[in-house]
Amino acid sequence: MLFDSHTHLNNETYTEEERLELVAEIENSQVGIVVDIGFDWESSLRTVKNTEEIEWCYGAVGVHPHDAKTMDFEMAVKLRTLAKSHKKIKAIGEIGLDYHYDLSPRDVQRKWFREQIRLALDLDLPMVIHSREADMETLEILKEEGAFSQERKAKFPKRPVPKEATVYYLEPAEEGKAPMKKTVDFTKADGDARVDIHCFSGSRELAIEYIKLGATIGVDGPITYKNNKKTVAVVEAIPLEFIMAETDAPYLTPVPFRGKPNKSPYVEYVIRKIAEIKGIEYEEAVKITGENGLRFFNIEE
Ligand SMILES: [Zn+2]
Repeated sequence: MLFDSHTHLNNETYTEEERLELVAEIENSQVGIVVDIGFDWESSLRTVKNTEEIEWCYGAVGVHPHDAKTMDFEMAVKLRTLAKSHKKIKAIGEIGLDYHYDLSPRDVQRKWFREQIRLALDLDLPMVIHSREADMETLEILKEEGAFSQERKAKFPKRPVPKEATVYYLEPAEEGKAPMKKTVDFTKADGDARVDIHCFSGSRELAIEYIKLGATIGVDGPITYKNNKKTVAVVEAIPLEFIMAETDAPYLTPVPFRGKPNKSPYVEYVIRKIAEIKGIEYEEAVKITGENGLRFFNIEE
């Protein structure tokens, strides 16, 4: 079973006919579960509808930093009710900061990011984080709001941790020199704060810091892009137990379909690439990323 931990069946560009076609295609694919992620009020409502109509669809509701400017306290209250009253809504998201497009003023983005973190903490729900060109501030706000507190982590079962430390090599600083060996011990990083840093685009060091705090790293199509050495280094350095596979469909289509609209069945190519980087069988990567997804979103199969 393939698990797509981040998709947008709720995308406003789909006509009803296209959406039904897509649902039928996913139904006939290897994909077993998708999590439909809200990005504003309307899309969150469509997510709820999708989870009610489609057996294998679960959801997250929330307001994306792009749409933070549309948010107010009334909407925050309505989001809370939505999340509380629908059993298949499994997370708050996507929420965060986007300083690349700056479609909402930064102070407005910060304000509603904080409010929605508090909502997830309050409801004991996982959170799905969007962070673009705002690495350090996203991390700071999550820490300040207590997203990684012991109290938070105590609410969720611990996760399986690797038995051995992870080893990777740094590119040599000078030509002719041997690469430097780095060992990172994740064997005690068992606390799970249920914070998914979706479409992770930061450095290996930042990923390691997040994992040690109790976060999960979301990996999608860009991992298959030729020049994306940064995310390959991230996947190399962190154990598979801390990685979820996602599509972010209809965006970020993996190779070999890059340039076309993305869809959940293409999560296969993300998982194949993860397996290749990790040097394991594709089936094993399918199994572990699937288990990670079920655990993260508290889905009982
Ligand atoms: Zn998304």
